[in-house]
Amino acid sequence: MSSQANPLETVFLGLGSNLEQPLVQLARALRAVHEIPGTALVRVSSFYDTAPVGLADQPNFVNAVAELQTTLSPHSLLKHLLNIEAEQYRIRDANTLRNGPRTLDLDILLFGHLQIDEPELTIPHPRMHQRAFVLWPLAEIAPELEIPGHGYVRELLLGLDVSGVRKLEGVTR
Ligand code: ADP
Ligand code: MG
Repeated sequence: MSSQANPLETVFLGLGSNLEQPLVQLARALRAVHEIPGTALVRVSSFYDTAPVGLADQPNFVNAVAELQTTLSPHSLLKHLLNIEAEQYRIRDANTLRNGPRTLDLDILLFGHLQIDEPELTIPHPRMHQRAFVLWPLAEIAPELEIPGHGYVRELLLGLDVSGVRKLEGVTR
């Protein structure tokens, strides 16, 4: 089946990096995402400097969120994103820690109104509603957005500690 057979869907993508010049990593990843077949970058949030969550002893991250439109299936989009992570030298092995340091992390946060519950692809992303470094940039580009099963992005953000998150002013994306 052709990848063009699917309807156009709106996708929100989370980006993060805390190694090897994070701003460069994110800018490069955004260019690569725009080049995924059947996929266009619609909007990108500001970049945010964020304190690491879970594993404290590592550099701060730069995080951002992007809105895409795609005709790809969720699994096909994921495959392209994992390829982009691999191209940017993210090493994924048994020692890779969840929430650990990485040159690039690309997460599908939302894919239209789809809900998928598989280990290799869970949508909505299972931890996004607890993460100020996701919800703040998301509220910036999509203030009315609702996360199925959890509530409105703007309201969820009000319940979170945002002290570790700082918008980077004056950074050209
Ligand atoms: P995290 O982003 O939680 O730190 P990783 O990036 O190390 O975790 O996890 C990568 C794996 O997570 C991928 O191999 C992918 O199959 C799986 N995964 C599950 N749901 C998603 C999603 N919504 N977006 C991206 N990867 C996902
Ligand atoms: Mg990830």
